[in-house]
Amino acid sequence: MNKFYRTLGKITLFLIIALFSGCSMWDWGSKAFDKLPEKTALDEAYRFSGKVIVVGAGASGLAAANILEKNNIDYEIIEATDRYGGRLKKAEGFADFPIDLGAEWIHNLPQILNRLKGKPGNEVEEVLIPYQLDSSYSWDGKHYKAIPKSKTDKYFNGFPEYKFKYISWYDFLDQNFAQQVKHKIRFNTPVKALDYTGEKVKVVLKNGETIAADKVLLTVSIGVLKSGYIQFTPTLDKDKQKAIESIQFLPGFKLAMKFSEKFYPDVISCKTKTGTKDYHDVAFQKDTKENVLGLLSTGSSTEAYYELGSEEAIVSAVLKELDQIFDGRASKTYLGEYLFQDWGRQEFTLGSWTSSWVSQSTLEDLNRSLEKKIYFSGGANDIYRQQGVPGSIMSGYYAIDRLLKGKE
Ligand SMILES: Cc1cc2nc3c(=O)[nH]c(=O)nc-3n(C[C@H](O)[C@H](O)[C@H](O)COP(=O)(O)OP(=O)(O)OC[C@H]3O[C@@H](n4cnc5c(N)ncnc54)[C@H](O)[C@@H]3O)c2cc1C
Repeated sequence: MNKFYRTLGKITLFLIIALFSGCSMWDWGSKAFDKLPEKTALDEAYRFSGKVIVVGAGASGLAAANILEKNNIDYEIIEATDRYGGRLKKAEGFADFPIDLGAEWIHNLPQILNRLKGKPGNEVEEVLIPYQLDSSYSWDGKHYKAIPKSKTDKYFNGFPEYKFKYISWYDFLDQNFAQQVKHKIRFNTPVKALDYTGEKVKVVLKNGETIAADKVLLTVSIGVLKSGYIQFTPTLDKDKQKAIESIQFLPGFKLAMKFSEKFYPDVISCKTKTGTKDYHDVAFQKDTKENVLGLLSTGSSTEAYYELGSEEAIVSAVLKELDQIFDGRASKTYLGEYLFQDWGRQEFTLGSWTSSWVSQSTLEDLNRSLEKKIYFSGGANDIYRQQGVPGSIMSGYYAIDRLLKGKE
C-alpha cells in the first residue's frame, strides 16, 4: 500500500512540475508547428558595423551565418572539426542512397522545410516519405511482439514524421545553408576560451591565436558546454551553469549494417532503462534493392555497448541479438559491411540530442547573453519547441536577431 501511495505521489509531483514549469514535453515537432513565429531573422534587414564570430558550423551556426551574409555583416565561422554540418553527416557509397549518420527524420510537417528556408507556402520541393510504418515490433530481450498497425497509424496521425526520399538532412543543410557561407569557415580550429571582460570579446583558439570580436554567437552542443572545454572569463553565472547542467544530453551512436535479405520489420523498439534503442529499416520506402538495417542507441544501451570496448565487439553483439530474435538469419545474411558513428564520444559533440522537456525559465537562462557580447544558440536553446534540426535552425535565427539588435 505504502508503495502504491509513493508511486501515486511521484506521478502527481511529476504532473504538477510539468504543468507549472510551462514545459511542453508532448508538444514538440509537428505538434508544435503552430508555435513557430510569423517572422524570423530572414524577414528582417539589419545594420551592424562590428565583427561577429560564430562558433560552430552545425545547423544553428550555419543558419545564423546566412543572416550575416545576407546583410553584408563582417563575420567568420570558427569550426573545431574538418567539416561542416555538426550532428548532420551523411555516408555516400555504402548503399545506392545517402545514409544519415546523424539526424535522419523530419519530426514535423513537410512545410517546416519551407519555413526554415523562409519560403512561403506549404508545397515543398523535396520529395518526402511519410514515416507511416507497415510493420513494427517491440523487443524486451526475451519477447518479440508485433505492435498493431492501428497503433502506429494512430501515432502517425497524431505526430506525423517524414524522411527524405532521395537526399539526406545533411544535403538539405548543405544546399540551403552551407553553400552560401562556407567560404567564411575556418576549419580545424577549436575555440578554447572566451574572454568578455573588455569592450571586445577575445576568442582564444587552440592554436594559440586570439581573435577580437564585437559579438560572438556560440552554437556548440550542451555536451561541449558541460565538459568545460571552453573557458569563460568572467566565469558563467550560477543560473546559466545550473541551466546547462540541467539539460539531459545522453551519449549515443548510430550503426548501419548491410544484409543480403530483408528479414526484419520497419522498426523494432527495444526496452531500455534510459534513452532509446531502436532498430530501423534505413531503406524504408527508398528506391533501392539494398537492405540496410540501422541501430539508433542512446542512454543506458549506449553505455552498455561502450563497455564492450570496440566497434567490432558492438557489431558482434548486435548480430547476436538479431540472431536471437530472427533464429540465426542475421549472421547468415550479413554482408560484413557496417557504418558506425559515435556521437557520444565525439570530442566536439559529446552526446546526442536534447528533449523538449525544459522549463521556460531554464530556456531563458540558456539564452541570456553574456553582457550583450556572447550569445548562445543550438537545439537546446529553441524557444519554439521544434527540437532536432528545425529547432537548431530556428534558434540560430532567434539568437542572431537578438545579437544584432543588442538585446539581453
Ligand atoms: C544520432 C542522432 C540522431 C538524431 N536524429 C535526429 C532526427 O532524426 N531528426 C532531427 O531533427 N534531429 C535529430 N538529431 C538532432 C540534430 O542532429 C541536432 O539537433 C542538430 O543537428 C544540432 O545542431 P546544432 O547546430 O545545434 O549543434 P551541432 O550540430 O552539435 O553543431 C555544433 C558545431 O560546433 C562545433 N564545435 C563544438 N565545439 C567547438 C569548439 N570548441 N570550437 C569550435 N567549434 C566547436 C562542432 O564541431 C559542430 O560542428 C539527432 C542527433 C543525433 C546525434
